[in-house]
Amino acid sequence: MKTQNDDKQQRDLSVKKWMANVIKPDEITRYLKDGKDFIDDEKIERQIADGAKPDRQKIKDIIAKSLSIERLEPQETAALLNLKDNDLWDEIFAAAGEIKKRVYDNRIVTFAPFYCSNYCVNNCAYCGFRKENSTETRRRLTLDEIRNETKALVSMGHKRLIVVYGEHPSSDADYIAASLKAIYETKVGNGEIRRANVNAAPMSIEQLKMLGEIGLGTYQVFQETYHHETYSRVHPSGIKADYRWRLYALHRSQDAGVDDVGMGALFGLYDWRFEVMGLLYHAMALEERFGIGPHTISFPRLEPASDTPFIGQTKYKVSDDDFKKIIAILRLSVPYTGLIITARESAKIRKEVLPLGVTQTDASSRIGIGSYSDDYNEQQPARQQFVLGDTRTLDEMIKEFAKMGHITSFCTAGYRCGRTGKCIMDLLKNGKERWFCKLNAVLTFKEYLLDFADEETRKIGQELIEKEIAEIKEELPDVKDKFAEYLERIEKGERDLYF
Ligand code: SAM
Ligand code: SF4
Repeated sequence: MKTQNDDKQQRDLSVKKWMANVIKPDEITRYLKDGKDFIDDEKIERQIADGAKPDRQKIKDIIAKSLSIERLEPQETAALLNLKDNDLWDEIFAAAGEIKKRVYDNRIVTFAPFYCSNYCVNNCAYCGFRKENSTETRRRLTLDEIRNETKALVSMGHKRLIVVYGEHPSSDADYIAASLKAIYETKVGNGEIRRANVNAAPMSIEQLKMLGEIGLGTYQVFQETYHHETYSRVHPSGIKADYRWRLYALHRSQDAGVDDVGMGALFGLYDWRFEVMGLLYHAMALEERFGIGPHTISFPRLEPASDTPFIGQTKYKVSDDDFKKIIAILRLSVPYTGLIITARESAKIRKEVLPLGVTQTDASSRIGIGSYSDDYNEQQPARQQFVLGDTRTLDEMIKEFAKMGHITSFCTAGYRCGRTGKCIMDLLKNGKERWFCKLNAVLTFKEYLLDFADEETRKIGQELIEKEIAEIKEELPDVKDKFAEYLERIEKGERDLYF
């Protein structure tokens, strides 16, 4: 007779078999140069050391270069990483805000994280979902549960999601495909999800092609740490132990035609200066091979997680002051890219870093599996990957942004009419995307105010819209009539009108 133990052994065996086939060695080697990847640890350490005591004029020249929306070279970024003079830091912070304005104007994009499964074969030292964490309650949503979660998110006013999965055969590319379909199919009245981005384990080119056909938005894979030795230490086992399979995930995405890719480093694993250089080298490697840099860069800081002692032990925790420097240096180093701050950070920090060039943020976030439709206790760590720092609702966030003069954009038009990848990069670099986006931002903001906002947000938001309309009349006389017509049609109940 079969025992429970036999069943478990059988399951473990089939997981092992699955794991053995995930990595495709030739989808790593084809990208190497002379057998080497693009992160040369010693060279990066040397460049950081060489940048010590940067010359004032040199810093001013670097700031001017960034303001002309040119990506920096590693030696230039290394100089910024070493800067101590407070007055020059003030100039850098101001320049970061100015670059954001030139490329993205006063828009901020919002989204919600949507965790579908926390089964995982990996053992990342910092993550509550790691395989060996027996205190974590494991769950994978069924497609019906995914539809219910989507309904809850759409009813809050969300149009964009980042859908997140652990790495496991039960949440493989086929499950990701089925969950994306379920998300896109779900409608509630006027509302629907118009863009589902994915944060999931590295996949093969074939799998990414399949997901691209279903409508995968941006594909995010964070390298966590670019430092080879640290990487091996914090990823002791599982598929994620392979540094290069992960490092080239975004290259494979480009080769699969999913050309909006999001990179990131998890700050707190190794020296933050090294990680900023790693992100820059990663952006350069993508630019060099595909002519397209990252669509977004994320810079999460380590947060506490259930039964995860590593977080209290790391000596590389990033202070709030250094965190602000990281954001400003990334803004200057890769001026065309979107920068994402998440609800890992407190409301106070999120408010403080918004003027440093952040372009996207999440809102009303819950990161437990099934936690948008279930009874939910936000501080229940064993159900989630880590503990959030800011759980304000979408409407509260939008109100705060509007008070600060930022318009919340739910626009996804660019993606749906082919302004992705290289096309969007060129538009961003020459400042044209700013105008498409302004029009669509106002239209989608108007939809939100009519359908979801509370009275106070509606009032503050409408005042902001009036200012935007005046600017559009002045700057875009050719489209002002069509724009006014679209606004009127939205007021009468039509939705999803865009340029
Ligand atoms: N399993 C997929 C993977 O590892 O690529 C999905 C990623 S995970 C669910 C999303 C991201 O959360 C990770 O890439 C990591 O950067 C971040 N993360 C993990 N543990 C964290 C923690 N304790 N605090 C903050 N961020 C964390
Ligand atoms: Fe799994 Fe991703 Fe968490 Fe690592 S970070 S344990 S791969 S869910």
